Amino acid sequence: MILVNGLILSDPDHPEVLPHGKTEIIGNRLGSVNLPNDLPTGWDGVIDCSNCLLMPGLINCHTHAAMSLLRGLADDLNLDRWLNDYIFPAEAQHVDSRFVYLGTMLSAVEMALNGITTFADGYFHMEMAAQASIEVGLRAVIGQGILDVPTPDASVSGSWKERAGRFLASCPDDPLITPAFFCHSPYLCRPETLRAAAELARNNGLLIFSHVSETTWEVSEIKSRYRSGPVAHLDGLGVLGEDFVAVHAIHVSDQEQEMLCKSGTKVVHCPESNMKLASGAAPIQDMIRRGVTIGIGTDGPASNNNLDLFEEMRSASFMAKLRSNDPEALNARTVLRMATSSGARVLGMADRIGSLEPGKLADVIVVDLNRPHLFPMYDPISDLVYAGRGSDVRDVIVNGKFVVRSGRLTTVDEEQLKTWVWAKASEISEGLNLKSYGNH
Ligand SMILES: [Zn+2]
Repeated sequence: MILVNGLILSDPDHPEVLPHGKTEIIGNRLGSVNLPNDLPTGWDGVIDCSNCLLMPGLINCHTHAAMSLLRGLADDLNLDRWLNDYIFPAEAQHVDSRFVYLGTMLSAVEMALNGITTFADGYFHMEMAAQASIEVGLRAVIGQGILDVPTPDASVSGSWKERAGRFLASCPDDPLITPAFFCHSPYLCRPETLRAAAELARNNGLLIFSHVSETTWEVSEIKSRYRSGPVAHLDGLGVLGEDFVAVHAIHVSDQEQEMLCKSGTKVVHCPESNMKLASGAAPIQDMIRRGVTIGIGTDGPASNNNLDLFEEMRSASFMAKLRSNDPEALNARTVLRMATSSGARVLGMADRIGSLEPGKLADVIVVDLNRPHLFPMYDPISDLVYAGRGSDVRDVIVNGKFVVRSGRLTTVDEEQLKTWVWAKASEISEGLNLKSYGNH
C-alpha cells in the first residue's frame, strides 16, 4: 500500500508538519516514509491523501471500553454516588461475557472512527474484550480487572488470583493484543493483593494499571488506613516502577510526584472524566517538568461520555491553563505528544508505535483537512488540537490494514452491532426500571 500527497506529521517528539510525497506500507510495517512521489497518477494500490494530513494513530492510554453499554445511565454525580448507587449495581446485574464483547466492540468502533489505533482497557471478562478488539482491528492492551470484592467474573471475594491465571491462559494470542492487569485502586485492593498482582505481572512481563489519587476522599481514606497518601502507600509496598501505570494522579504531593518520577512510574491523564466527576485537576505540567512520562486517556464512556482523543487533547490543555492561570501551560505540541509518542512510552510500545518511522508498525491515520473548522490553517498542529474532531479522520490503518476507509468502518457490520446493542440496552433499562429510547 502506498499513500501519496497531502501533509505529514511523522514524529510528534519533533513536531513539524511537512509536505508529503509518498509513504509505503509493507505487510504490517512502514517501509519508506515521506520520499518524493515519483509514481504516475492512477497507479494501482495508491491512496491519494491530497488535502489531508498523515500522522501516527492516536493512543488512548486508559478506558473501560465495555462501559459504553452504561453510557448516559447516570450523570451529574460525584464518583462515590456514581459508582456505588448506579454503576456497581448495574454491573452486578448485567456484566457478563456477552456484555463485555458487545460493549467493547461498540467502543472499539467509536475509537476507530475517531482515529484511535491503540487503547488500554481495564475491566472484567477480558478475553471477550480482546476478541472484540481483534474483530474491529484495533491494537489493545487488555487489563484483567483485579479487586478484593466480588466482581462479575470472580464472584467469590479473594478469587482474583485464580481468575488472573485463567485470563493469562486464555487471552487470545494475537499480534494486536497485549495482556495486562488492572488493579482497581488502592482502596479496593488490599496491600497483599497489590503486591501479589505486581509480582504476577512482573513474572509475566506485563504492565499493571491502577486508578491512583483520583479524589480527595481516596487520599483521606488511604491516609486513615495506612498513614500515607496513595502514591506513597504504593511506593512503600514496592509496586511502583517502569511497568506500573498510575491512572489519574490528581491529588499528589510534591514528594509523591518525586516518587513517581524516581520509580519510572507512568501516569495517565483523563481530563474530561476528572472534570465530569469533579475529581480535580491533575498537576500535569509539574509532573512533566519533573520528567514523568504521561499519556492521555478518555476513561470509560460512562464517565466522559465519548471516546474522542482530539477533544481530550484540547481539554487537557485548557484544564492545565485554567489550573495554573497560565495560558502557556500544556501547549498544543505537548498534548499531541501525550496522545501519540508519549502514550506509546506509557504502554511500553515506543519501539513499535507512536511515530511514523521506517520499520515501525503501520498504525497510521489520515485526517481530512478540507473542513470549514480547520480553515485557514496557519498552524496545522494548533488546528488538530484546538479545532480538530475525531470525525475529521478519513482513514485509519492498523497493523498495515484498513480499519476505516473514507470514513467508513471496513471490519465489522456497524448496523448489526447497533441492533445487538439496542437489545442489550433494553434489558439493562428494564432491569433498572429506566426509560429506554432503543430503536428510535
Ligand atoms: Zn478508569
